[in-house]
Amino acid sequence: MTHTSFSLPQRMIVTGAQSGIGRAVAQAAVDAGGTVLGIDRHAPSPLAEPAPSTSSSPGRFIARIADVTDAAALDEVFGRAAETLGGAPDAVIHSAGIYRQAPVGDMSLDEWEHSMRTNSTSSFLVARGASRIMTGGSLVLLTSIAYARGDWFEPCAAYAASKGAVVSLTTQLAAELGPRGIRVNAVAPGVINTPMTTITQHEHATAGLLQRLPLRRLGEANEVAAACLFLSSAAASYITGAVLPVDGGFLVS
Ligand code: NAD
Repeated sequence: MTHTSFSLPQRMIVTGAQSGIGRAVAQAAVDAGGTVLGIDRHAPSPLAEPAPSTSSSPGRFIARIADVTDAAALDEVFGRAAETLGGAPDAVIHSAGIYRQAPVGDMSLDEWEHSMRTNSTSSFLVARGASRIMTGGSLVLLTSIAYARGDWFEPCAAYAASKGAVVSLTTQLAAELGPRGIRVNAVAPGVINTPMTTITQHEHATAGLLQRLPLRRLGEANEVAAACLFLSSAAASYITGAVLPVDGGFLVS
């Protein structure tokens, strides 16, 4: 049997759905006729109306305000997700996260713990919730190429370490959950033009960065969303445990 279809999952949970990459994932899934349960700590502004030609069935976006570091809040959202979505989710994409930069000597323990909790611990909590309700399908976690590169353009040890933990989690969970038909992959963006990326406001740094990038430009949220959705689709049915860079070539530069 071959799978060449890029048809998207019909029932999806997306964290960080209010902004940037998570929002682009939610928008694309709704445009394709899917039902999306979007989680964010901020109330979501409405998604754009899907273009009439993109799908024969109208998609649906259901917003839940929750902090992804709050175990009880997440357990409640996941506990009700099947009822909310009309069935177990086919895909979960965990995009909520924060970026903090600081030289290590200036970094407080609180800042370190905040990064670890928001990026690493939340990945565990989302994966735990997903594993309890999914009967198959795909989990995608967002890491960053910063986990693998010491020559990032600014010091961000806590962020990089918090995203390294996401890669380890992906490896272990792919092995653990594969026998249940749940694929687990990570997407590793480079520098993407979203509200998280203040670098775009610093022309000088941006120019230097662009010279290092083989594709000579920053990425866009929809380009990362496309990778998340590919990994969530039937087209990726034999891919698990992978870390897919979406970085304009940063890792090979
Ligand atoms: P973004 O800031 O545009 O969006 C992040 C979303 O996560 C926001 O809506 C925010 O409210 C939500 N969020 C943050 N903390 C939360 C919490 N505790 N509970 C619930 N929601 C919370 O960022 P983005 O650029 O879309 O980044 C998405 C993911 O991609 C993140 O995990 C980020 O680390 C990763 N990433 C981004 C880049 C980049 O250049 N933008 C690069 C590498 C990795």
